[in-house]
Amino acid sequence: MGQKRKKAGTGTQLTGRIVFPDNPTYNAARMEFNRRFSKFPRVIVFCKRTQDVINAVKWARERGVRLRARSGRHSYEGFSSVNGGIIIDVSEMNKVKVDRKNRVAHVQTGNPLERVYRKLWNKRVALPAGTAPDVGVGGLTLGGGIGLLSRKYGLTCDNLKQVKMVVASGRCGAKTIIVNKNKHADLLWASRGGGGGNFGIATDYTFRVRPISTVSIFSITWKWRDLEKVFPTWQRWSPSVTNRLTSTIEVAAKQVGTIVSTGQLLGGAEELRRLIKPLLQAGTPVKVKVQTVPFIEATKFFAEADLNLEPKFKITGAYGFKPLPREGVRIIRDFLSKAPNKHASVWSQSLGGAGSAVSRVAPTATAYPHRKAETIYELSARWRNDGEQQRNIQWVERFRKALRPFVTGDYVNFPDLQIKNWPKAYYGGNFARLKRVKRKYDPHNVFRFAQSIPVD
Ligand SMILES: Cc1cc2nc3c(=O)[nH]c(=O)nc-3n(C[C@H](O)[C@H](O)[C@H](O)COP(=O)(O)OP(=O)(O)OC[C@H]3O[C@@H](n4cnc5c(N)ncnc54)[C@H](O)[C@@H]3O)c2cc1C
Repeated sequence: MGQKRKKAGTGTQLTGRIVFPDNPTYNAARMEFNRRFSKFPRVIVFCKRTQDVINAVKWARERGVRLRARSGRHSYEGFSSVNGGIIIDVSEMNKVKVDRKNRVAHVQTGNPLERVYRKLWNKRVALPAGTAPDVGVGGLTLGGGIGLLSRKYGLTCDNLKQVKMVVASGRCGAKTIIVNKNKHADLLWASRGGGGGNFGIATDYTFRVRPISTVSIFSITWKWRDLEKVFPTWQRWSPSVTNRLTSTIEVAAKQVGTIVSTGQLLGGAEELRRLIKPLLQAGTPVKVKVQTVPFIEATKFFAEADLNLEPKFKITGAYGFKPLPREGVRIIRDFLSKAPNKHASVWSQSLGGAGSAVSRVAPTATAYPHRKAETIYELSARWRNDGEQQRNIQWVERFRKALRPFVTGDYVNFPDLQIKNWPKAYYGGNFARLKRVKRKYDPHNVFRFAQSIPVD
C-alpha cells in the first residue's frame, strides 16, 4: 500500500477526508448497506466540496483506477463499491436550503431521505421520495424515486429541476456542469430515471417542492388465509382511487402469516375511512388503524417498516400493468409457503391509474419508461449467515421467473444482476437514447459498473 501511495504523489492529489485501508475507520467506511457485499476499495474519499469530487475523478483517471460514486450506500447489488478502486463518497456534502416562496429546495446529494424530509418539513414543504430513512437522495433520484406521494406529485426525478454534476472531460480531466432544461437538457432527461453511476457524480440537486401539513395514514392487517381475497382486491382498488392516495401491500412468508396494506392520503381521516372500504370488506381484517398526523410523523411511520431487517438480502423488482390473474396470486402463495425463512416477502405499491402524476408523463419524456404501470413489485429474501445465501438467492430467482409471464421490466433502483436483458427491463425503448447521452458525456466510459449504460 505504501508504494501505491507514493506513486499517488505525482499528478492530482486527493482532497477531502481520505480513508486508506490502514485507517481504523476503513472497515466501516467500505461497507455497503447490503452486507451480502464486502468489497475492499483501494481508498475511500469523503468529499466535503465539489472540488474534492473533481480531484478524486482526476486522480482516478490519471492512474487508471476504477471509481464509484456513493451517496447512501443502498444499492441492492453493491454497485457503489469496488474492489481495488476508489469510492467517491458525497455523504458529507449534505446541505439543504429551502426557498419556500419559489417552492424550490437545493439539496446536496449526500443527504439521506430522513434528513431531506426533516429539513423540508421545517419549512412545511415536501418532496415526493422513498420511505427508508437512510436511503440516499443521490442514488434514489437518478433512478426515479417512488414513495407515498408518488401518485399525486410524481417520482422524485419528476421534481428534479437542476443537477450539478462532475463529469469526465478530456483525456484525464473532470469538470462541473450545470444541468437543467436550458443547459445540457439531454443529461437532465437521462438523470430522470437513467440510474446512478452512469454519467458523472451529482453533487447538488434543485427540486420543486410542495406545501404540506397533515396527511392521513392507514394500516390494515389480515391473516394469510385471506390472500386470494385481499391481493386481487388491493390490485384493482389501489390504482382506481384518487391520486391523493398511494398505498402498499406486503405479503409475508407463511411462517409469519400476515398481509399488511398501508397508505397515505392527502386528506382527512374520515375521507380515508371511506376510501378504504373496499379493502376492509375483503376477507377479515384483524387490525385496522386510520389516523391523521403531521406529514413528518407519517414519514417516520413508513420508515419503520425498513428498520431492523436482516443484514443481507436479494431483491428483485417488476412492474404490473394489470392485476395479476388468479394463477399469479397462486404463484405468490406457493413461493411464500416455501420461503427460505420468515424474512421473505412480496411487496407492492400503487403507482399509476386514476390521474396519477407518474402516468401522466410520457414514457419517453424522461429516461424512466414505466409510466403506464399500475403497480411495482419487490420480491425479497433476507438472511444473516452466509450458509443461507445460495438458497435465498435461488429462491428469489425462481420466484422472478415464475411470475415473469404476468409482470414486466424492472426498476433500475431495484437492480438485479440475474436479469440478462437488463437494458430492456430497466429502460425499455429509452435505452438507445441513453447510450447517445452516455457517448456524449462519458465517451471514455469512466463511469462504469456491471450494469452501467455502455458507450457502444
Ligand atoms: C431499505 C431500502 C429501502 C428502499 N426504499 C425505496 C423507496 O421507498 N423508493 C425507491 O424509489 N427506492 C427505494 N430503495 C431503492 C433505492 O432507491 C436505491 O437503492 C438507490 O439506488 C439508493 O441510492 P443510495 O444513494 O442510497 O445508494 P448508493 O449505493 O450510494 O448508490 C446507488 C447507485 O447510484 C450511484 N450514485 C450514488 N450517488 C451518486 C451520485 N451522487 N451521483 C451519481 N451517481 C451516484 C452509485 O454509484 C450506485 O450505482 C430502497 C432501498 C433499500 C435498500
